[in-house]
Amino acid sequence: MTPDDYAEIAKRLDRLARVPDEVLAEVVTREGLCFWMFDRDEMPDLSGKDAPDRELASWMCAGCPVIDECLELELRTAGDHTVGVWGALAETDRRAVHRLWRWRRDRGGAR
Ligand code: SF4
Repeated sequence: MTPDDYAEIAKRLDRLARVPDEVLAEVVTREGLCFWMFDRDEMPDLSGKDAPDRELASWMCAGCPVIDECLELELRTAGDHTVGVWGALAETDRRAVHRLWRWRRDRGGAR
C-alpha cells in the first residue's frame, strides 16, 4: 500500500465520524463476515508477521459488508496499538491509516 492509499482510506472514514461506538459495534458484530462465517479464535496468530497478516486480511475480509465500520471502530478503540486483522487491513497498514485518521479528526476533517 502507498501513502496515498492510507490517506484515501482515512478520508473515506470521515462519513462515520459521528456514528456512536455502540452503533458501530452492533453493526459490525451483526454483519461482519468473521463473526458468523468462522470462528476468529480458531485462526492462527499471525500478528507481527506483516506479509501473512496482509494475506489473511485480504482473504478473511473479502466481501465483508462492514469493512469501513469495522476499521473505524478498531481505530477508535485500539488506536495505534491495534493488532491482528480488522477492517481488511494488516496491523501495520492500520497503524499507518491511524496516523492520518487521527490527524483528520483532530482538525475536524470529518465536517
Ligand atoms: S472487515 Fe474483516 S475483521 Fe472486520 S468484521 Fe469484516 S470480516 Fe471481520
